[in-house]
Amino acid sequence: MHIADSACFVEDIGKGELTMGKKRVGIFGGTFDPIHMGHLIVAETIMDEFHLDKVVFIPAAVPPHKLDKQISPAKHRYMMTMLATCSNPRFQVSDMEMHRQGPSYSRDTLAQLLEEHGRDTEFYFIVGADSVENLHTWNRIDELLTMCHFIGASRPGCMPDMEKIAQRFGPLVEKIHCLETPELEISSTEIRHRVGQKRTIRYIVPETVEQYIYKEKLYLDMV
Ligand code: ATP
Ligand code: MG
Repeated sequence: MHIADSACFVEDIGKGELTMGKKRVGIFGGTFDPIHMGHLIVAETIMDEFHLDKVVFIPAAVPPHKLDKQISPAKHRYMMTMLATCSNPRFQVSDMEMHRQGPSYSRDTLAQLLEEHGRDTEFYFIVGADSVENLHTWNRIDELLTMCHFIGASRPGCMPDMEKIAQRFGPLVEKIHCLETPELEISSTEIRHRVGQKRTIRYIVPETVEQYIYKEKLYLDMV
């Protein structure tokens, strides 16, 4: 399974009996510190290619893979995600992970979503290729893969070894799909450093997010 083979996966899923008559909802979890154009283009492209009804962005309150890192307060990351997505009627933002204690495990989020939406909805969890590479480190990942599909978007410098992933996950690998998306060499890390170095972030984040970062004086110590 390679990123370049994406078209056939899209077709396979589109035809799948499993999805007949069901709502198709994309879930985009992330730290979003800050959200940037890379996230937005990936979400829009995947929503289009996989015929999703909507994409719900879910900022992680306590990202499990960043417990040792300094991150901005969740309220700022949530606000920036709202500002970035509000002009798209098919994008939504959820604060559900902000109401839970402890690490924001996606398995718990999906369990809650399935409980709330019943079995009439098929969930598609959107990740970048770097996250596909480390899926095996996610909390209760085998269980999570029974709850949703994963869609990996291409990201510069990342090419997941799908054979290795297939060996690790066995038949569950069928739930992991890769899609060739426009590759933008943008990361929140780079943006934080740019702000700290007083360099421009124009056109890398939406204008509203740029203004919010300056108004709230975020990332000034990130040189
Ligand atoms: P950081 O540098 O702080 O880790 P980030 O840019 O990776 O930030 P995250 O909030 O960590 O952003 O990412 C959330 C999800 O979006 C992850 O699955 C990540 O792989 C994906 N993602 C982020 N940026 C891109 C990009 N430019 N192209 C494709 N996927 C991306
Ligand atoms: Mg990241």
